Amino acid sequence: MMITYNKQLVKTELEIQKMQAAGSLNALVLEEVKKLIKPGVTTRELDETAEMIIRDHGGIPTFKGYPGPYPYPATLTISINEEMVHGIPSGRVLKEGDIVSVDCGTTLDGFIGDSAFTVGVGEIGTEQKRLIQVTQESLYKGIEQMRPGKHVGDVGAAIQRYVEAAGYHVPKQYTGHGVGREMHEPPQVPNFGIPGQGMLLREGLTIAIEPMVLVGTFQTRVLPDQWTVISADHSLTAHYEHTVAVTSNGPLILTQRLER
Ligand code: MG
Ligand code: MG
Repeated sequence: MMITYNKQLVKTELEIQKMQAAGSLNALVLEEVKKLIKPGVTTRELDETAEMIIRDHGGIPTFKGYPGPYPYPATLTISINEEMVHGIPSGRVLKEGDIVSVDCGTTLDGFIGDSAFTVGVGEIGTEQKRLIQVTQESLYKGIEQMRPGKHVGDVGAAIQRYVEAAGYHVPKQYTGHGVGREMHEPPQVPNFGIPGQGMLLREGLTIAIEPMVLVGTFQTRVLPDQWTVISADHSLTAHYEHTVAVTSNGPLILTQRLER
């Protein structure tokens, strides 16, 4: 069967360079925010720092004003413990033993980098450490599949296999996605799948791979603020994300600091 690709989805080398620049700024933001994560800091302080760094470098916080139940009100999403994604920064104070997932999108010169990490606040427990480690490792299992000739299902299957082997769960409703000029472009990239199925990956596709991992269940629900997604059983969750290009040389992570 012929698959026609929307030309916009397949990026040129120059466009991928622009995405690397956006991704590098996004990586700087996440690095600086990570340094500030300590007991006693509020999530709003982290958000203000992120916005300042992005704007100082000529970028735009991609998430701010993003359409949803109401326009997203902040630069970061900061999701704590049972909160999986889309937590809204507030006056909430981080406490020793919390785990915090920070997600950021940066638009620079018309292109977007989207990336996330989870980190402990002060000393954290064994289960928290293991969850974070498994989630981060599952991201690299997915990234490894980002090669011409592979399919979207290979990415999801690699993540799912790794997460479920550790005894954890992946959500059904929240997925990775194409990213570039738009925050969410086709294809959707679930954190589960069947090898060889789904859209064929070809050189120039740029995708945000983002395993979300839940300790107790695949089921989620949304808090009354209409954005924050939590595990339905209030078990711990973690989230890692990189924006990655499919290239003839293999996967290229765009959301990392460029050498200067
Ligand atoms: Mg993200
Ligand atoms: Mg994303």
